[in-house]
Amino acid sequence: MNNENIWVFIEKNKNQIKNISLELLNKGRELARIRSEKIVAVFIGNDLKSSVQTIANFGADGLILVEGEEYAAYSNDGFTNALYLLIEKYKPSTILFGATNAGNDLAAGLAARLHTSAAINCTDLAIDSPSGTIEWQRAIHGGSLIQTVSSPETRPQIGSVRSGISKKEKIGDNQRIYVIEEKIKTPSDKIRTRIKEVLSSAQESGIKLEDAKVVVSGGLGMGSPENFQRIAELADLLDGAVGATRAVIDAGWIPSQHQVGQSGKTVNPDLYIACGISGAIQHVSGMKTSKVIIAINKDPEAPIFDIADYAVIGDVNKILPVLIEEIKKTHIPVE
Ligand SMILES: Cc1cc2nc3c(=O)[nH]c(=O)nc-3n(C[C@H](O)[C@H](O)[C@H](O)COP(=O)(O)OP(=O)(O)OC[C@H]3O[C@@H](n4cnc5c(N)ncnc54)[C@H](O)[C@@H]3O)c2cc1C
Repeated sequence: MNNENIWVFIEKNKNQIKNISLELLNKGRELARIRSEKIVAVFIGNDLKSSVQTIANFGADGLILVEGEEYAAYSNDGFTNALYLLIEKYKPSTILFGATNAGNDLAAGLAARLHTSAAINCTDLAIDSPSGTIEWQRAIHGGSLIQTVSSPETRPQIGSVRSGISKKEKIGDNQRIYVIEEKIKTPSDKIRTRIKEVLSSAQESGIKLEDAKVVVSGGLGMGSPENFQRIAELADLLDGAVGATRAVIDAGWIPSQHQVGQSGKTVNPDLYIACGISGAIQHVSGMKTSKVIIAINKDPEAPIFDIADYAVIGDVNKILPVLIEEIKKTHIPVE
């Protein structure tokens, strides 16, 4: 293996590979092909072998596995140590992390240790073909500007990327992959901080916005927090997640983890239902890749209709109750 490789750091949640990791394999593969590089997954943890075929099927050419009790739970010291030693040995050109808590934490820490830079929370990325320099895009000033950053002089290039910039794409069912198992020990006295308990928020215990196949989002056009409950009711019926505009978050109708958009979350569902949402650019940038978009708005000139596949013009608070009743008649709840 030479240093012409793009690495993707793989994360798991309750025995399942996170969607962001699979999306990054697809994006990384796209970038790697431009420069004839390989896409290599790096997986650190405990009891990982059952996931190898999934990683292969979602497009990795190779996989570096580091297994050990000390990696059963994420720790900055343990994972940074293992990754640092791997990077010193294999010298990848680029390392992609999901912009998760662990991904952001590792990207920044590793960059400091390697005297390189890290682009955190990127909303897109591209590669300059002759040089292999990654151009990372980041939303700055609360999302009002997009900044492009790159580090042409230093390698590896490190960045964390938000969910939704690429689709996860299975390339086959029995894909072959080369696997390198590395034995790296991190003495327990070198792990200074440990996760003792993970508390899930109410939203995390339901369907996660970033992973949902259906997102029902509401804007100020819902009129009141009481009316906004209809968004949750419809989302629930469709086994979807609740999204919101920033205006609704600012009004205090719903917590900020539901915000979709440039300064919120990027979503990529099969179906996005926008209810009473004007379609400001900052909102649209977080949901425009949804496969099918239905917009309900009383203003026929609302910009959301420019990107909607289906436009429903009318009062959302009259339309939603009817829609909810109709769905209830035919709804078979998922067990
Ligand atoms: C730096 C910056 C970052 C931002 N980041 C984000 C972000 O991440 N996400 C985000 O969403 N916004 C973001 N915004 C805010 C964004 O610019 C808009 O202000 C916001 O998205 C508007 O929210 P809205 O559509 O709910 O409200 P409005 O723009 O007020 O639209 C309400 C819509 O509801 C319709 N309506 C009203 N009553 C009814 C009814 N009874 N039935 C049907 N339709 C009705 C109206 O016709 C209107 O189109 C950001 C802004 C800035 C400056």
